[in-house]
Amino acid sequence: MRSRAALIDRYGRVATDLRVSLTDRCNLRCTYCMPAEGLPWLPGPDLLTDDEVGRLVRIAVEQLGVREIRFTGGEPLLRRGLVGIVAAAAALEPRPRLSLTTNAIGLDRLARPLADAGLDRVNISLDTLDPARFVRLAHRRRLDDTLAGIAAAEAAGLTPIKINTVLMRGVNDDEAVPLLAFALDRGYELRFIEQMPLDAGHTWRRDNMVTAAEILERLGRAYDLLPDPAERGGAPAETWLVAGHVLPDGRPARVGVIASVTQPFCRACDRTRLTADGAVRNCLFSQEETSLRAVMRAGGSDEDLARLWREAMWGKLPGHGINDPAFLQPARPMSAIGG
Ligand code: SAM
Repeated sequence: MRSRAALIDRYGRVATDLRVSLTDRCNLRCTYCMPAEGLPWLPGPDLLTDDEVGRLVRIAVEQLGVREIRFTGGEPLLRRGLVGIVAAAAALEPRPRLSLTTNAIGLDRLARPLADAGLDRVNISLDTLDPARFVRLAHRRRLDDTLAGIAAAEAAGLTPIKINTVLMRGVNDDEAVPLLAFALDRGYELRFIEQMPLDAGHTWRRDNMVTAAEILERLGRAYDLLPDPAERGGAPAETWLVAGHVLPDGRPARVGVIASVTQPFCRACDRTRLTADGAVRNCLFSQEETSLRAVMRAGGSDEDLARLWREAMWGKLPGHGINDPAFLQPARPMSAIGG
C-alpha cells in the first residue's frame, strides 16, 4: 500500500517544494559561484539518468507530498533530456507546478518545447545589463543570448518571469535601479539575492556582501516601495509593491529581496533538494546528505527510497547557521547543490 506521509522535520516544517539539480556543469563562470577554469565535474556514471530523475520526482509527488518542482543546476538547459524530464513531471498526479532556474542561454530555442512539455514558468539569472561587465562577471560574452532567452520565455508564455540578481560591491551594485527599471518595463518580477557563502573558492566575506538593507536603500532613491499585503508563506523573497507600476495583466508590480544572510527565513523553509548525483539535501548549507542513488541502483523499492528521503528531512536543522561563529561552508559549492 502507498504511504503518503509528508516530508516533515522535527521542528514541524513540511517540505513541499523540491529543487532538482540536473547537472553541476555551467556555461557561465559567475565569479561568486565558479572559478574561471571550471570545476572537476561529477563523473558521468554518478549522474542520475533521466529515468532515475523521473522515478525520484514521481516518488516525491506521489508519496511525499511535493507540490512544486524547480529544475536547476549548474545550468539545467545543458541537460540533454530536459524536455523529456519536464514532460514526465507534468504527467504526474497531482500535477506539480513546474519551473526552471536558468541563465537563459539557449532558451531562445528551448522555451517553446519546454512550455509545450508542461513547464509553467522560469526564474532567470541576470546580474548586469552591460555587455562588458557581463564578461567580467561571468567570463563569457553571452549577455545577448541571455536577453534573447528572456524574450523567448516571455513569448512562450513561461510567465510570470522572475529575474534573479546577485549584487556585488563595487562590481554591479550601481545597477540595482537600472535592473529594476528593465524588469518593470517588461512586466518581470526582479528579486535580489544576498550573496551567500557557497562559492567554490570559499572567498565569501560578510563585509563584501551587499545587504538587503543596502539594496532597499538604493531602490528607495528612485522608487516608492510599499509593504506587500500578499501572504509570504514559504517564499524566500520578501516582496514590496512598486508604487505607480502595474504588470501587463493589471496586477501591481513587485520587487523582492532574498535576504538569506541578514534575515534568514529558515523557520518557514519548505524546500527539499535533490542533487544531480542523487543525494537528498535538507538545506542548501547542510553538512550531511543522503544518497538515494546507491539504494536505487541496488534495487531499492519506491517505499525504501521514500523512507530514506523522509529520514533525511527529519534531520533538518532549525536554521542554516551562517551567522553562527562556528559556521562551516558545505563541501559542495552552489553549482553542485543546485541553486
Ligand atoms: N545556472 C542557473 C542560473 O544561472 O540561474 C541555475 C543555477 S544558479 C547556481 C542559481 C542561482 O544561484 C542564480 O540565480 C545564481 O545567481 C545564484 N547563486 C549562485 N551562487 C550564489 C551565491 N554564492 N550566493 C547567492 N546566489 C548565488
